Amino acid sequence: MSNRTFTMIKPDATSKGHTGAILDQIIKAGFSVKALKWTKLTPGQAGEFYAIHKERPFYGELVDYMSSGPIIAAILEKENAVADFRKLIGATNPANAEEGTIRKRFATSIAENAVHGSDSDENALIEGDFFFSKLERF
Ligand code: ATP
Ligand code: MG
Repeated sequence: MSNRTFTMIKPDATSKGHTGAILDQIIKAGFSVKALKWTKLTPGQAGEFYAIHKERPFYGELVDYMSSGPIIAAILEKENAVADFRKLIGATNPANAEEGTIRKRFATSIAENAVHGSDSDENALIEGDFFFSKLERF
């Protein structure tokens, strides 16, 4: 099992000034940052990143939202990283997220839900490679 996951702080959270608080919660939860980038996705790049959801009714809205403003992308390391990070961020819909989770604290809706977390070790690798070259991670 891999000990790495990939995350994004999404445009709703960066635009509301939650970036520092979210990174603080992630680091205090025991994740160490192995790569970090402040960037903005084009609609094409957002569509490619979320291509797995191409057939879903919310795909267009998701692509518009994810390309609407700056994001933070990061590779995180911790034992059992993928599962522990999904637990830290909480349910996709913040209304169903547990108290104290990042989405409960900072997300506003199922669409604008503050953070992304990889759903498997395999996708964590693919998603990290999408954003970072070998020189940008350690
Ligand atoms: P993420 O992949 O961003 O970590 P997730 O794994 O919890 O989120 P997914 O099912 O992969 O949830 O959905 C990807 C993203 O698409 C969600 O985080 C959210 O931004 C958006 N999304 C999911 N469901 C809906 C919906 N019903 N309406 C609008 N947007 C949605
Ligand atoms: Mg997902």
